[in-house]
Amino acid sequence: MPLIGTSQEAYWQQEVNYKMQVDVDVERHQLNGNQTLLYTNNSPDTLHEIYYHLYFNAFKPDGMMDIRSRSILDPDDRVLDRISKLNNDEIGYHIITNLSQDGTDLSYNVEYTILEVELAHPILPGGRTELSLNFKSQIPVQIRRSGRDNKEGISYSMAQWYPKIAAYDSRGWHANPYIAREFYAPWGQFDVSITINKNYIIAASGILENNNEIGYGYQDDLSIDPKHNEEKLTWHFINEKAHDFMWAADPDYIHETVQVPNGPKLHFFYQQSHATRHWKKLPEILITAFRYMNTHFGTYPYNDFYVIQGGDGGMEYPMSTLITGHRDLVSLVGVAVHEALHSWYQGVLATDESYYHWMDEGYTTYASSLTMDYLMGVDNDQSNAKNYINYYSLVTSGQEEPMSTHADYFETNFAYKRAAYSKGAVSLSQLGYLVGDDCLKKILLNYFDQWKFKHPNMNDFIRVAEKTSSMELDWYYDYWIHSIKTIDYAIQEVQSIEQSTIIKLQRIKPIPMPIDLIINLKDGTKKCYYIPLGIMRGYKKPENAMPREIMRDWHWTHPNYNLMIEVNLDNIKSIEIDPSRRMADIDRSNNSYLNK
Ligand SMILES: [Zn+2]
Repeated sequence: MPLIGTSQEAYWQQEVNYKMQVDVDVERHQLNGNQTLLYTNNSPDTLHEIYYHLYFNAFKPDGMMDIRSRSILDPDDRVLDRISKLNNDEIGYHIITNLSQDGTDLSYNVEYTILEVELAHPILPGGRTELSLNFKSQIPVQIRRSGRDNKEGISYSMAQWYPKIAAYDSRGWHANPYIAREFYAPWGQFDVSITINKNYIIAASGILENNNEIGYGYQDDLSIDPKHNEEKLTWHFINEKAHDFMWAADPDYIHETVQVPNGPKLHFFYQQSHATRHWKKLPEILITAFRYMNTHFGTYPYNDFYVIQGGDGGMEYPMSTLITGHRDLVSLVGVAVHEALHSWYQGVLATDESYYHWMDEGYTTYASSLTMDYLMGVDNDQSNAKNYINYYSLVTSGQEEPMSTHADYFETNFAYKRAAYSKGAVSLSQLGYLVGDDCLKKILLNYFDQWKFKHPNMNDFIRVAEKTSSMELDWYYDYWIHSIKTIDYAIQEVQSIEQSTIIKLQRIKPIPMPIDLIINLKDGTKKCYYIPLGIMRGYKKPENAMPREIMRDWHWTHPNYNLMIEVNLDNIKSIEIDPSRRMADIDRSNNSYLNK
């Protein structure tokens, strides 16, 4: 029997191999670079044009990021109107010259942060082409994520710093201008050589190839004579499998390492000061965190992970993160764990963050809630309680938009953040309610194993969840991701009929759910009545030792459901819908009944 194609069999992804050499002028804060890109078209389509991101162009007055920040209701306080006030020597830009395809000069057009290129000859399905260009860039004063001289005094935080090919997938090109957030790029190899004055230490999202020549520690051995600061060194990094490349440089970085048993080597780059005193405690804590994360979310596949002081908060890059360092211990651990978990949800499971921000930020938030509770020794099954609270306040704010909204198109930053981080985290925690927490653990491990080093989308995740649970789950995403409909179940009335009890249940809001109804008896015992949701075509395994009875299906078309149980009402102390609180019921005041 012929196999019907699964999403994996039909799956393809583009491949890019970068080779870049850049020379840094630390006086003018400019770069001179050249880039060769080997592009493999694994799509079934013939490509006639190609697009690059030129992210530094966002940091000029009156550009899209500037205007958006000055017109949105709740601008990011790191941006505000700061771009509009940049001087010529503070703005960012990329100037492209000598762009060619297999030796033939190409015509191109720069439109804000997008370089539009008409190819000299099309790239056929399965075809390969070599694109070369030179670029001269000015590194902006740090406004958002990347730039020079961040507020903690890190010289260069070099994220989104090079002409970066746009993503092309089954939905076509993703040449989104840089407005605020979220990145998506094809997988490939990065071979990057950075030449900079020898008093700088570079940390990057790649392995230092010429460690023997210049190495970390080189600077420690050598007391650098200030008059030799003009001399330069070239740092050569390779990352064999990544979708981005970040680096940071500072003369005062110290470098510390620690080995996770059966895991990666962790590297820490930061400026030593009173404000960064808690960094000394970070290595041991992250060893514990990585062991937990490897067990619960899939094995971290690289040999190294770099925690680098820089940037303007916390931001994830392949096998690395840039975080600000002047923090108390809880905040430092919190940001380091969150960004490290992005190595799973974004770094290795490279979803299109613009459309699936909730699979990136939401899954990371869910996983970091569990990891942080583990680190703190908290074991109360309520690790994600704060994410539910944030989701409920989004609902009451009236500003909620569907999670399927493109990250840049939300009306407010508030609605984006609550959707991506909080409602995204709830999407997973609530999936645990639907399929059982043990099954959810398997889903996350299967998802990682099946989609690592690829670009999974929502349907890919749903299919893994469905196959692992043997349940139909598409309806859940139709409601939870594509709409702002809500959940509210109620115990309407409880009646005694001879030796039995009738519990009248009501679905008040549109989203249907299976129901865990717990009866607390006066003798101290508990019993679970599980009401499956018809469209799920299945039900979860018992999650605890409590006796459980599976009742008839509740269909989504039916607002009401009468549950008759063979228990005398006199023996019932109380009744509650979902005491686990994993179902995001927006009004829990009607979820319980107390027999007085
Ligand atoms: Zn994040």
